[in-house]
Amino acid sequence: MVKPNESQSILLEDLRFLVIEIMSDMEIWQDFDLLPLQKIRLGLLRKNATQRHGVTKWNRGITADNLSIDNVETIELHPDLLNNEWNAYAAFVLHHEFIHALGFRNHDLLFRKLEHSWPGKNAGDLGSKFTEYLRKKSAKWFWVCSNCNLQFPRKKPSSGRYKCRKCSTTLVDIEV
Ligand SMILES: [Zn+2]
Ligand SMILES: [Zn+2]
Repeated sequence: MVKPNESQSILLEDLRFLVIEIMSDMEIWQDFDLLPLQKIRLGLLRKNATQRHGVTKWNRGITADNLSIDNVETIELHPDLLNNEWNAYAAFVLHHEFIHALGFRNHDLLFRKLEHSWPGKNAGDLGSKFTEYLRKKSAKWFWVCSNCNLQFPRKKPSSGRYKCRKCSTTLVDIEV
């Protein structure tokens, strides 16, 4: 876990407060004790993480039978989610991790139902935008279709192995 600095800690606590407040108003959480969510340790993922936007880490030796909120070691969010522009998506991600913390380990049907009851209806769609943003940020290469003029930011060169999805032209590499 990356330890948040002081201003990051404040932003994380603000976000926690907001998410718990919204959850308290949600029909689907009415029978759950949300108070323990206030005590979970919040941390950050590494800045160059691109695959994950958030993660719930359990203490060692925890299995499906003894999932309990007391056994959550940390919840970690991508540090860039603390930028103002990603606020709505940050709340969605923290809600997602709180669902895990409340004992729903797998992304099954019930999990998705809980996740989609979040009132920010389009927040889930922001996930692909955030992924794209992270890709652009860490891109060392653009894979370019000279026919369609499309650019795909990537960490590694395509080295002639990939074709444009639209027109099948072989993509060429341009260094960022
Ligand atoms: Zn998850
Ligand atoms: Zn093309």
